Amino acid sequence: MSGYEFITNSPKETEELAVRLALLLHEGSVVTLEGDLGAGKTAFTKGIAKGLGIIKNVNSPTFTIMKEYHGGRFPLYHMDVYRLEDSEEDLGFEEYFEGEGVTIVEWASLIKEQLPKERLDLYIYHLGLEERKITFFPNGEGYVKICEELKNYESTSD
Ligand code: ADP
Ligand code: MG
Repeated sequence: MSGYEFITNSPKETEELAVRLALLLHEGSVVTLEGDLGAGKTAFTKGIAKGLGIIKNVNSPTFTIMKEYHGGRFPLYHMDVYRLEDSEEDLGFEEYFEGEGVTIVEWASLIKEQLPKERLDLYIYHLGLEERKITFFPNGEGYVKICEELKNYESTSD
């Protein structure tokens, strides 16, 4: 499976893609983000927050592992597990995955074993200074539908 590919040419375009995705997410949605430092994982998460109607600025939770944002359509649970000392450690992630909000996990491969089976995996690749390739790999029917909708939107909007 080669996934669903999207190209963005600026942080703004990445944010717009994330806003459109956020509009299709619901309670218990889980989205993982992989990509090098500076790829745009946090930038993408800012767009998710915006799409959920969260006004507070999202920044990288690198030193806190998890930050919660309320006041939007759903709570946003933003995890960055980059600095997790021991990937086997159970910090109660499951409660968030199954919670009432949308969970975004940066560097999710570090807690692979703890991720829910149904989720949307995103890989962000640097193509140039401001060019990124964002590939969506859906796990589960619901996420396949979401990817199809995003692709349909893309092909009708330009
Ligand atoms: P990560 O969380 O993956 O380490 P960040 O989102 O913190 O990365 O940083 C991404 C950086 O790259 C930001 O400074 C952002 O402005 C810049 N950038 C340039 N082009 C893009 C793009 N197309 N999409 C996302 N970010 C971009
Ligand atoms: Mg980050």
